This record gives sequence, C-alpha cells and structure tokens, in this order.
Amino acid sequence: MADSKTKYIFVTGGVTSSLGKGIISASLAKLLQARGYSVTIQKLDPYINVDPGTLNPYEHGECYVTEDGAETDLDLGHYERYLDTKTSQANNVTTGRIYQHVINKEREGAYLGKTVQVIPHITDEIKRRVRLLGRTGKYDIVITEIGGTVGDIESLPYIEAVRQLKWDPEIDCIVIHLTLVPFLSTSGELKTKPTQHSVKMLQESGVQADVLVLRTEQPIPADVRKKVALFCNISEEAVIESANAETIYEVPILMQHEELDQVVLNKLNLPSKQEPDIEEWKAFLDRLKNPKREVRIGLIGKYIELKDSYISIHEALIHAGAKNDSAVEVEWIHSEQINADNVAERMAGLDGVLVAPGFGERGIEGKITAVEYARTNKIPFLGICLGMQCAVIEFARNVLGKKGAHTTEIKEHAEDPVIFLMEEQKAITNMGGTMRLGAYECKIKDDSIARNAYGKELITERHRHRFEFNNKYLEEYEANGMRATGINPEGGMVEIVEIEDHPWFVGVQFHPEYSSTVLNPHPLFVEFIAAVVKENQKEAVVKES
Ligand code: GLN
Repeated sequence: MADSKTKYIFVTGGVTSSLGKGIISASLAKLLQARGYSVTIQKLDPYINVDPGTLNPYEHGECYVTEDGAETDLDLGHYERYLDTKTSQANNVTTGRIYQHVINKEREGAYLGKTVQVIPHITDEIKRRVRLLGRTGKYDIVITEIGGTVGDIESLPYIEAVRQLKWDPEIDCIVIHLTLVPFLSTSGELKTKPTQHSVKMLQESGVQADVLVLRTEQPIPADVRKKVALFCNISEEAVIESANAETIYEVPILMQHEELDQVVLNKLNLPSKQEPDIEEWKAFLDRLKNPKREVRIGLIGKYIELKDSYISIHEALIHAGAKNDSAVEVEWIHSEQINADNVAERMAGLDGVLVAPGFGERGIEGKITAVEYARTNKIPFLGICLGMQCAVIEFARNVLGKKGAHTTEIKEHAEDPVIFLMEEQKAITNMGGTMRLGAYECKIKDDSIARNAYGKELITERHRHRFEFNNKYLEEYEANGMRATGINPEGGMVEIVEIEDHPWFVGVQFHPEYSSTVLNPHPLFVEFIAAVVKENQKEAVVKES
C-alpha cells in the first residue's frame, strides 16, 4: 500500500545523550493523537546487536517486549504508556538487524553480483524499515526516533537515510533536533554554542533541522531563542523550550504550552483539526501530583543500581498509585544484599513487596528470602516472572517441606525441580529470541484475586522466559494453600499463583508491567496498590486503638 499520505517526523539528538528524545517523541505523539491523528513511534538503534534481548540491563536498561514477541528498546514502553496503543516488531530496528537483512540478501544472490555498500544498500534498508509502518496504511504520522547523538560514527547511515528521505519528492517529512542549552552558573549565562555546533554537524550531513527543542534547566529568554533561530536557520516559533519537568508525564503539557504540536502540523501542512483533547491525561496528572497518602513498595531486584532496568515496573506502580490517590515511594532493594539475618531490618516499614523478573543465579536466594518475609508477615506481594518462580520455590521449601526445591535454571539436577525447562526449549542453544515471548492467553479461575482484578476469564499477557511451573507438583501446592489461578488454555502452563491465607499474594509468570498505560493502568498493579493501602489503613487503626 502506498504511504504517500503518511507524514514522517524524525527526531535526532545532539550535544549529549540522555536528553529524553523518547519522552519528547512520545509527548509530541500524544498531542497529535489528542488532535485526532493516528500516530505511531519507531526507534532506530545504532548498535550492532540484532535486538536488545541479549543485552545486559546494565548496558541498556530494560528490555521491553511487544505483543508480537519482539524484544525491544525501553523507549517503546514510553510510547505505549503515552499513546495507549500497541507497538510491534516494526517499531524497533537496530543496525544489527539492518545488516543481517542486507547480508542475508547478499548470500541469497539478491544483489546480482553488485558491490554491496553502506550507500545505497544499508541506507535503502533503513528507509524501507522507516516506511514499513507508513505502508500499513494505519497511520497519518510516523515519528522515528534515531538513537544516539548526531556526530556518532554509528549514527551516520541513519542521518544519511534521513537526508535522502528529505529530498524524496514522494515523502513529506520534517526533522526535530533535540539539544542541550547548558547554564553556566559562574557567568550566569545560558550557552547556545553547543546547539549551534550540533545543528551545523547535521547540516554537514546535508540535513537541516526544521524544529529545535532545547533542553534547559533555566527558562530561555526571547533574545536567546532569537539568536538560536538566526544561527541555526530555523524559524523563531520553531525553537521550543523544554524545561525540566516534575514528572515525565508533565512533558506533553509543557510541549502543548510551547505549541510544539502546532508548529509541527504547520511544517507538515496538516490541518489543526481540533485542540488536543487531553482532559483525561490532565486528570491523571492531577491525581499524581495531589496524592492523599504515600505507600512504600520494596522492589527487590539485582539491577537496582540502574533504575532503567525496571522502568516499566516503576511506571506501572506510579500509574496504579495515581489510580488509588497514593504516591508510591519505591524502595530499591538489592537482592544480593538480603539474607535471613538482615531481611527483617532491610524490609522494615515496607507496605508492599514486589520481587522483580531476572535471569541467572545472582541474588536469587535473597529474592526467595524476601518472598518468605512477605508471605509470613502477610505483606501484600507481587512476584513477576522470576519473582513468581521464587514464590513457588519458597513455598515448596518452607511449606511443602521440600528443602531441595529449585529451578533447573540454577540447579539442573535439583531434587525437586518445581520450576523447570519446557520440553520444546531444551534443544535450543541460540540465545536470541529462544524464549516464550510475546502475548499468550491465560484463563483465570473464579473466586481469585486475579479474576477480581481483571473482571474477566480470558486475558492475554506478554511473556519473556524459558522456565515454567512444573505441573507434576500442582496438586500438592493446591492442597497446601497455593492455588494456580491462571492457566494457559493451550499448553496447561501455570501463569498465575495465589496464596489463600494471605491478604494479597500473587505471582505471575507473565509481565503485566509492559501493558500498563497512563489511561489504562494495569488491573493487577491497581489491585496490588489498593491492597497495600487497605492493609496500611488497617494497621493504622490497630496502632491508634
Ligand atoms: N529466568 C527465568 C526464565 O527464563 C525468568 C525470566 C524473567 O524473569 N523474565 O524462566
């Protein structure tokens, strides 16, 4: 299908990384969507990994999973949380994937003996990937965020592809360049030189930015904007200030105030349609900023030093907190630092406990100890993926009396392999995409916490794991108070476990955090926080009396 009606927006970054291109892209997309346009966002990542699935979270933060099973950059999580629409495999492309495709074609003889080169073959493949989303015919606007910083060697083919697209008469596109305007406290001045250089560097690659978004910690006065516009060949109204925000969810409002959406529509020759309808978003922000209480959730994981490793969980807690008029204070607890001797001290004062997903042995005993503490002290508990598996192991060891219970991920010949490898996974040795990935159905039993939360029997949730609950032990678990309340209808795999004699104890094999959005907070997180609030209030009454 032709994509001639689809408009393209490229978002590049200059001066430094970590300026928040993902948030700016998502905020712009939100405003355009709120004006009635259908919008999607794509991320191009200039690294050689085929996807971020094999990357250590320390390197690149969380690996986000789409419904169609793609392991992607964490920015896609922001896109879904802001837009409340699903992304897919096509929304994240890496240099590794581009090269893999081109090299495979070369091996098949598709280039008919031609020399295969960065230009045109790699750039053609980049352009094809960009237009793939437009060609679905589903979107009026495709926003493509280019990872990295202009001037990086690895970004060059992407910038070249943008240059070619800007000159393609069939394509209507603009470039938004995000830079930093630092404030020098010694001279009390905002400095625009890094921005000027960064725009020049883009120009050297043949690309003129159409809109500049200036990240700043101080308000940018009119004369500074004028100067930037003059030096950078950009119309004055297209120089946008992006000040620090209290929360990332305020950025769409700040961008609306700066009229970023209006400027973009003008540049793309698109009608304004209507003013953005973001009342619901504002209502969420209002609840977020004016909580009635605060609750403390302990997040037990092993990548605690880098909070981006658990970003979707953090955001899902924030969404659920706002829904419950509660500020969620997350206490990041390193699983390697928990043991039987210090657990009571480390976890004192927590209102809820969340044991995070993960891979490998490091920190797993700490996670199991944290589960035991939450279970025996009746603290609301949510275990996700490895967190659920830890709950299953803990229950076997301490309730069923199976001291040798473990997951075969850590102990291949465990006495009681309560978590084990699915048969079909056993033969796989290639590390990329070998997991149970993406959305699968789950049937929820009546009279369960999960059923109450979702309000329906059949759900779909996203997965990313190799190991499973071992059904050989199911009867024994159920007879002793841990119920399997969610089952995959096709394979019979246990997807949800709950403990009956506990205020709120749920373990899920899937990742509910991936599908929590601002306008649709995830029901399990909402109910988890509701239970935390309820228990907290009970405790307060007991203390008073
Ligand atoms: N390592 C576990 C498995 O592969 C859990 C994975 C996860 O927590 N995402 O089954």
